Amino acid sequence: MRLSVIKEGKALIYIPDTRDAQISKGIIEPSHLDVFYNPVMEFNRDLSVLAVSTFIESYWPGKEVIGIDPLSATGIRGIRYSLEINSMSKVIINDIDKDAYDIMVKNVELNGVKNVDVYNKDANSLMRSIRFEQNQIINIIDLDPFGSILPFIDTAISVSSKGTLLALTATDLAVLGGSKYIAAKRKYRVNLISIKHYREIALRVLLAFIAYVAASYDKVIKPLIAYSVDHYARVYLLIDRGTKKSEEMLNKNIGYYKYENGILMKCDNNCYGPIWNGNISDIEFLKSINDKLKDFSYVETYQRMDKFVKMYLNEMEFSNYYHQRLDTICQSQKINMPSIIKFISALENKGYKAFRSTFSNVGFRSNAPYDVLIETCREF
Ligand code: SAM
Repeated sequence: MRLSVIKEGKALIYIPDTRDAQISKGIIEPSHLDVFYNPVMEFNRDLSVLAVSTFIESYWPGKEVIGIDPLSATGIRGIRYSLEINSMSKVIINDIDKDAYDIMVKNVELNGVKNVDVYNKDANSLMRSIRFEQNQIINIIDLDPFGSILPFIDTAISVSSKGTLLALTATDLAVLGGSKYIAAKRKYRVNLISIKHYREIALRVLLAFIAYVAASYDKVIKPLIAYSVDHYARVYLLIDRGTKKSEEMLNKNIGYYKYENGILMKCDNNCYGPIWNGNISDIEFLKSINDKLKDFSYVETYQRMDKFVKMYLNEMEFSNYYHQRLDTICQSQKINMPSIIKFISALENKGYKAFRSTFSNVGFRSNAPYDVLIETCREF
């Protein structure tokens, strides 16, 4: 395999040379490479380094911390954790693919990281062996699969402990978000419709599904941040334990929704779901992330991270509840859609609160009642 070297964060990483990719229709997809590497995920990884580092400072200050990236491909994520987070005692990287293993070994050497162990095993057996045979507590689990988290979520929950951070990426948004609602029923046991608010629905379906798995192990999830951008959803969950707590978590946070007049609403009858209707973020954690952001000004996506973290913090401080979309509201009343910026300032001029949402470039949150939203749309 011919290799090229790229720089991301503080890491230098060998990736397969794109000249050897099996190209179809003239496009090089990450999956066309012998070992997976997706430059579009740089923002995801930059934010992960920031979030994991904030998590350790907030929940495990001065403690020995072990993290595992069991689906590593080139090893880039785990190697960056080791290089860019001082307080990380040990990072385990792993891939079932032998070419990926070989490239990970080279990457560990290239970056001179001494606290990174490399494996070539099935992710589930490795996680189980570390937790149950070697009896090690795993403080951070980061799952970054192709598509769905389904093949790994049961193990990830079972090996987690009180205080573990479970971070995961899901790229099967078409299923989770409802555009493939038949597959959603089969895979995630959920009844959905296809709507434009698919990003938030995808997150809430994912959270509900993980909450049920957690409850089956008498465990609890608490979302610290959950967001969806580009082609994926990403969640960071704090794990807790307890039968009663897990019952309370389901009672309090699992619910249903309906979609009427272009907006999402909570629902008790003939509804879609089940989805997670509870908080999708923890405001104190978001504030800590915002404070820590300045330490990561060296990353390539810093401007985007800064904009994203601040917009997300603003929208979450206002409401952890459903976002709304200007396009679907206007369409439902057959009104032309105004610019979102003008619409938000018009609401503010009327004395309402209004914030843009990270879920869509026409997304917003506001305390203005529905008839005010419609009246404001008509004014342009
Ligand atoms: N985390 C990587 C990054 O940030 O660039 C990308 C990971 S890629 C999306 C998923 C990886 O999971 C692939 O390299 C694949 O070989 C590996 N994989 C798939 N099934 C696996 C399994 N059962 N055990 C271990 N690795 C597996």
